[in-house]
Amino acid sequence: MSKHKIPCIRCLLRDLDQKAALKQVTAYRERLPVQQRANKELFEERLSICRDCKWLRLGVCQKSGYYVEASAYDKTKHCPLGTKIW
Ligand code: SF4
Repeated sequence: MSKHKIPCIRCLLRDLDQKAALKQVTAYRERLPVQQRANKELFEERLSICRDCKWLRLGVCQKSGYYVEASAYDKTKHCPLGTKIW
């Protein structure tokens, strides 16, 4: 049996060994004006929806093309499927 882990195709960056991408996303979030940042509760709620979504692939929303850990942190952004999703 292989010792290599097969990555989940619907993972968040934090679940993957994609340190460079996660660093880029973290830098993006730090550049956002404070008033535009989602609080922890909203951010985690959005990510939990993305985790179960068929459009999430390797941290990227296949509908918007954004890293969800960046877009979910920005209160002005919304899921491309509609504001009822998040
Ligand atoms: S932003 Fe919307 S469409 Fe994209 S992965 Fe998240 S829930 Fe799915």
